[in-house]
Amino acid sequence: MRKSIWITVGLVLVLCGVSPAIELTPKGNVPSQDVIRTEKTSAYVPGEILIQYRAAAKAAAKAEVRAAFGLVAKRKITGISTLLFKLPPDLDVETAVARLKDDPRVAYAEPNYYARPERIPNDPAFSAQWGLNNAGQTIAGTAGRPDADIDAPEAWDLTVGNEAIVIAVIDTGVDIFHPDLRPNLWVNEGELGGYARLEDWQPNGVDDDGNGYVDDVAGWDFFYNSNDPKDESQQFGGHGTHVAGIAAARGNNGAGVTGVSWLARIMPLAAMDYGTGTLPISAVAAALGYAEAMGAHVINLSLGLYQDSQTLHNAINAVHRAVIVCAAGNDGSDNDVRPHYPSSYASPNLIAVAATTQFDRLASFSNFGLSSVDVAAPGSRIYSTFSRFVDSSGYKYLGGTSMAAPMVSGLAALMRAGNGTLTPAQVVSLIKGSVDPLPALSGRIATGGRINALRALNAAGLGGDDDGGGGGGCFIRTVETVH
Ligand code: CA
Ligand code: CA
Ligand code: CA
Repeated sequence: MRKSIWITVGLVLVLCGVSPAIELTPKGNVPSQDVIRTEKTSAYVPGEILIQYRAAAKAAAKAEVRAAFGLVAKRKITGISTLLFKLPPDLDVETAVARLKDDPRVAYAEPNYYARPERIPNDPAFSAQWGLNNAGQTIAGTAGRPDADIDAPEAWDLTVGNEAIVIAVIDTGVDIFHPDLRPNLWVNEGELGGYARLEDWQPNGVDDDGNGYVDDVAGWDFFYNSNDPKDESQQFGGHGTHVAGIAAARGNNGAGVTGVSWLARIMPLAAMDYGTGTLPISAVAAALGYAEAMGAHVINLSLGLYQDSQTLHNAINAVHRAVIVCAAGNDGSDNDVRPHYPSSYASPNLIAVAATTQFDRLASFSNFGLSSVDVAAPGSRIYSTFSRFVDSSGYKYLGGTSMAAPMVSGLAALMRAGNGTLTPAQVVSLIKGSVDPLPALSGRIATGGRINALRALNAAGLGGDDDGGGGGGCFIRTVETVH
């Protein structure tokens, strides 16, 4: 019997008539913005208080207040009749606020709270990436629910990742010259030969680094046995490029989208048979072995099948250095009843991912499983890079657990960038332990929650405050080619 597997293919636009909501015309280098957001945080400037007197309060009454509390005016907030005062050393902020709130001469009194800068990337399509930051914006005609997102901007205050972290994408390939991916392309230094840079490199027909693959300077195609992993199939291509961009499109480069990680490297490992549109297990298993040997920190597997395979299972078990992130499948079915692989394999360094919507609901297509699916992540109407061999625009909306998994891969890359001491199993455990619990996921998946990047980075010891996190539509159909 021949085993083959399905992957989700980008038919969402065709099926649903979804069109990109935003203009992607390059607008040049828009300066990076640090948007200040007022947090519901307890942190405030010690020894200071903001007060607005009641409009009726006369000058004498105001002076009485100042004298009674020992307030020293520091500055006037122009336009809103509010004053910043310095408190006497023996009066703490909380006590002062409590007492002044009840004073008939005072309209309000509050601490001088700290707002925190949030790192908002300058990528022009960022506003389409609701999964990273959901302000209730309209995506393909539908307004989402604010904060139904992974709190990416808040997480980016702590780290935006770094170039030392490598994410292997085992998929249809990656459009390695895509301008939003090229800056983050993994380069096999050992294969560069005498060339200093990939741009100058020429193949020499020699396996320079002795890893068994000739001229594998930027990934490999494990089905066609070639050093060119480009995502070029007209019929089936684009999927791997989309996945790669969700995890690690270059952030803050003034172009397109941003990955969850702005700077991690993408190791493109193609494994698709363009004749059938499937990924033979032999190719997937070989790619897993390559990723492990070449030091990938994270491996994304947005693919699956309902057939247990010893080869695939062994290949998964042979990965020890990487976090393995698996899509849970797109059949709306229960993986506890009908196991889906590799997502249903139980390894401490493997995490199985379901998909949520703009409304923090389980996507209708998403598989689930109280014991077999670990977490959920945004996976519906996800805007990302796309293979230009297939669509010249280079960007597209797609939905599927294939899109949810790389959200987790990008997060794992951020965690490993921020804390190099974490083992892959610890990264998985921390992601699972830091989800935002959601009613829609309760009883459906093991953690009952959607990933929260800020909380995960905090759990990984990267500091900062936990702000508590957050709080149907048109979906891709699974394209199956199972023989
Ligand atoms: Ca080699
Ligand atoms: Ca070579
Ligand atoms: Ca970008």
